[in-house]
Formats: sequence, C-alpha cells, structure tokens
Amino acid sequence: MPLYEYFCQACNGIFEELRPMREATEPVPCPQCYKDAGRIMPTSFSAFTFRDGYPRRIPDDNQFYHLGKKVTKPITSARPNEHPEINKPQPKKRKLKGEVTEIQDMQVAASKGDLTDWYGNGVKPRDVPRMVDEGKILRKGTPQRDPTL
Ligand SMILES: [Zn+2]
Repeated sequence: MPLYEYFCQACNGIFEELRPMREATEPVPCPQCYKDAGRIMPTSFSAFTFRDGYPRRIPDDNQFYHLGKKVTKPITSARPNEHPEINKPQPKKRKLKGEVTEIQDMQVAASKGDLTDWYGNGVKPRDVPRMVDEGKILRKGTPQRDPTL
C-alpha cells in the first residue's frame, strides 16, 4: 500500500497513513485528535517541522491537541481517553448551599434522635456529613424498633 500524507486542520498536524490507493482521498482520523483529516499533496506544504516525531506545519505553536482540546504534551498512554491534562482527577466537588443546609437540618434532627439510616438505625450528628458523602440514605423519624423483637 502506498503511503499518503494527511493534514489535520484541527490540530495543525501532518501525518502519514498507509492506505489502499482507492481509499487515498477518503479522510483519515487524525492520530492526535481523532478528527477527520484530509489528504494533502506532498508539495502542499513547503515548510513543516518535526517535533517529537510529529510533523507540524510552520508556524508551530508548540501545542498538542487531544480530542479537540489543547494540551502541552502528546498523549503517552495507549488509551486515547486518558490524557493526563484532560482527565485530571476532579477536585472534590464543593457542596451546594442547599446540601449544606440539608446536612445541618439532618444534624439537628440527629441530635434529637430523630434521624435514622435506611435500616432504621439512629444516626449520630457527627456521622451525618460522612454518611451523606457516602450516599447513604438518611431519613427523619425516630428509630423504629421491630415490635416482634
Ligand atoms: Zn488532529
């Protein structure tokens, strides 16, 4: 199969693909941003440079692209959805004002012995935020004892 050159407009990158001649004019997904890139003739770009093994059109803005977003480093992982700059672990989400009030309400209820977990066990006020974080179901109501016990 012949080697063809493709240019990705989204990330200014040039790459080569081995393709059957009859498919040469079809767009190819860019290896960096996965957008469709069209074929270019070898003479279309008189100036391009290589950076980290990737041909780039000049001027090279020293940026890489990944899934349509600008990043400063090309992806090193084999898994395209795990670029470290895009899939950073999210900082713990701040609680919304409504949630804080709700927790305070539940703590008040808990201090009166008027809050139970899903199993009907009493909840201590200081355990409320942790239990809410853990997604445990809390409900108001005095702990119910099973009358048959
Ligand atoms: Zn691209």
